[in-house]
Amino acid sequence: MLIDLHSHTTASDGLLEPGELAVAAADAGIDVLGVTDHDTVDGISQARTMAGELDLEILGGIEISCFHNGLEIHILGLGIDEHANGLADFLQQLMDARVERFRAMVERLADLGVELDAEEILASTESSVGRPHVARALIEAGHVASIHEAFDRYLNRGKPAYVERFKLEARTAIERIHAAGGVAVQAHPGAMGRDTDIPGLVEAGLDGLEAFHPEHSPSARGRYEKFAQEYDLLLTGGSDFHGDDAGRATRLGQCTTAEQQFNDLQERCNRYRA
Ligand code: AMP
Ligand code: FE
Ligand code: FE
Ligand code: ZN
Repeated sequence: MLIDLHSHTTASDGLLEPGELAVAAADAGIDVLGVTDHDTVDGISQARTMAGELDLEILGGIEISCFHNGLEIHILGLGIDEHANGLADFLQQLMDARVERFRAMVERLADLGVELDAEEILASTESSVGRPHVARALIEAGHVASIHEAFDRYLNRGKPAYVERFKLEARTAIERIHAAGGVAVQAHPGAMGRDTDIPGLVEAGLDGLEAFHPEHSPSARGRYEKFAQEYDLLLTGGSDFHGDDAGRATRLGQCTTAEQQFNDLQERCNRYRA
């Protein structure tokens, strides 16, 4: 069983449409794919529809950007029901904040003499707009040569076009994930996060850690396995696939979730679905 529980579609900053992602996952031999777009569930149903024709199961998911002790982290909601009561209203707030942040970034760039057409970018974005969309527009307009250069010159924290995001508390994100019947798993804690924050996140309801991620070293993976033992946490893995030419190239199935862990995850979801 190949179980990849972290991927992105054109509903956020992935390059493949949800249906195309499902086809690519099936081609890669994946049995279960978690569709986890940034702050949106809009890609899930289309991925499911295509998966119905393939030998593939889609696990409903999301990757929520939030803050804990002032530091930005990402929390995966795995096994969520994308139609859960109240979820759409909550996510609409995050979408509105993303559009506002996006417009502020385009204004900062204009102040630097770098002109982009905000409306055109928004019109060609399906749901969840983010820095990668700005980066791609910067390439298209000839201002930079690569995604890496766009982040390095303009978009990374501390660079001139960086704009703070909406300050969603991790605790709230975790509560919303549970209310939608999913488990809350900290995404790539070794790439974004502080290990010393993990106990506080567990106290806030965190269910697991994404120990297996392309940006994790073997030693990071080992640390999270120890945390999982100590705090009774799930361990998941996923490729964080965004497409083949998305700046950070990963392969579908590059990191996966063990079958036993996946069973434990589904069991834990049942706690929240009662
Ligand atoms: P946002 O949520 O709008 O702040 O955008 C964050 C997303 O941008 C991340 O989830 C990554 O997919 C992508 N990203 C961040 N830094 C880089 C980078 N240096 N190169 C490529 N993609 C990046
Ligand atoms: Fe992303
Ligand atoms: Fe992430
Ligand atoms: Zn991701």
